[in-house]
Amino acid sequence: MNDFSVGWEEWLALPGLGLPALKAKTDTGARTSALHAFNIQPFGSEANPKVRFGMHPIPERPDIAVYCSASVVDQREVTSSNGVTELRYVIKTPVTMGGRTWDIEITLTNRENMAYRMLLGRTALDGISVHPDESFRQPQLSYDLYATLVKRRPVKRSLRIAILTREPNNYSTRRLVQAAEAADHVVELIDTKRCYLNIKSHAPEVHYDGKPLPMFDAVIPRVGASLTFYGMAVVRQFEAMGTYCLNGAESIGASRDKLAAHQILARHRISMPTTAFANSPKDTESLIDLAGGAPIVLKLLQSTQGKGVVLAETKKAASAVVSAFQGLDANFIAQEFVKEAAGSDLRCFVVGRRVVASMIRSSADGDFRSNLHAGGVAKKVRITKQERVMAQDAARALGLRVAGVDIIRSENGPKVLEVNSSPGLEGIEKTTGKNVAEIIIEHIEANVRPPKMARQRAVRIE
Ligand code: ADP
Repeated sequence: MNDFSVGWEEWLALPGLGLPALKAKTDTGARTSALHAFNIQPFGSEANPKVRFGMHPIPERPDIAVYCSASVVDQREVTSSNGVTELRYVIKTPVTMGGRTWDIEITLTNRENMAYRMLLGRTALDGISVHPDESFRQPQLSYDLYATLVKRRPVKRSLRIAILTREPNNYSTRRLVQAAEAADHVVELIDTKRCYLNIKSHAPEVHYDGKPLPMFDAVIPRVGASLTFYGMAVVRQFEAMGTYCLNGAESIGASRDKLAAHQILARHRISMPTTAFANSPKDTESLIDLAGGAPIVLKLLQSTQGKGVVLAETKKAASAVVSAFQGLDANFIAQEFVKEAAGSDLRCFVVGRRVVASMIRSSADGDFRSNLHAGGVAKKVRITKQERVMAQDAARALGLRVAGVDIIRSENGPKVLEVNSSPGLEGIEKTTGKNVAEIIIEHIEANVRPPKMARQRAVRIE
């Protein structure tokens, strides 16, 4: 293709998918192109596998959804820029740009949080020169082209929602059920531990009580820390079925593993207290120094509710704790102690791309930990813009649509302590008076638009 060149962003059309205008970012760092897709559903036969999926082509208009289907040419493991590896469907379809049309391979993934619905990778740009400092070298298109498609808002309808939980009676579960039922949805409580999986390549299923579960429109994972490994497998299976999962398996896993979460946040340049990690006992001294010396906070990687978090006032105490952890073969991190936070931290509750409620938690009795389960008290708080943006960025970096982001106020500005993928509703709702459960259900409504197929399939299975 002589004289054909593209900039770092371009308009294009995917006529085979019924998408007349998309703004794409060129990414020569990626091999294959990627397209935003939700509700990805495999169907067809083993010999002729197909996939159907929904697509919000206009980032600012989640109400405009187009449903597409295509033949699957492959399934491939792809690692995205936030370090998360997922198995993606690969489709082949024509792309049109500047009057030319050629076939390209595209992987399908949820890019809901991304500014560009499509990434154009190297193989799609074979023989085309890329000018990374220029945008729109090819003719621009307009999203108005969607006006000619059926653009009416989908009819508001009852959704079939599953909550994955081992605690059907706890506050968070009860509130989510209440909020969903108030909006005329149907909720089923599924005990994560009683699910078993049928891992077939073209028709993955989750079984429960001797029967395959139906297609749910959405799954709300409330996976406890003790069941992370199995809970992730169940969520992954629902994702493979094309069900909209409020938080994905990989994101839940990354947020549960404090070390992985720190690495991902660091990669996204999100401020955190200085943190060090080491495995060999020989490195105890330098590990403590690396995190700024005593006093120092030592955290078990699997800790929740502040239970595995220790403040060592002196280097000697720190060494003793490190030896004890190492003796137990426990993984831990050493972290700079943010003294000026004085036992307080912020809990920012993120739904979608926004912080919808926030509170400040303070320890009751001089403890440096502010966890409510450990007797801390909470108050409503106005957070700064910097704190709000930081919480939103942290949730997005981990790919979480619902997250409780804990931020500590240090003298050098806010720092993220941790990101929780199943944040409790009781503390935040009671403290702020906000109906967070309703906001979560509204987020699901805005993002779940299953194609007709899904509905017919759900009915047939019953
Ligand atoms: P968990 O996941 O077990 O709740 P956190 O990392 O959130 O562990 O720590 C528990 C509490 O300890 C936090 O809410 C905070 O109040 C306090 N804390 C944790 N890390 C630090 C730190 N580096 N400096 C000061 N206080 C901290």
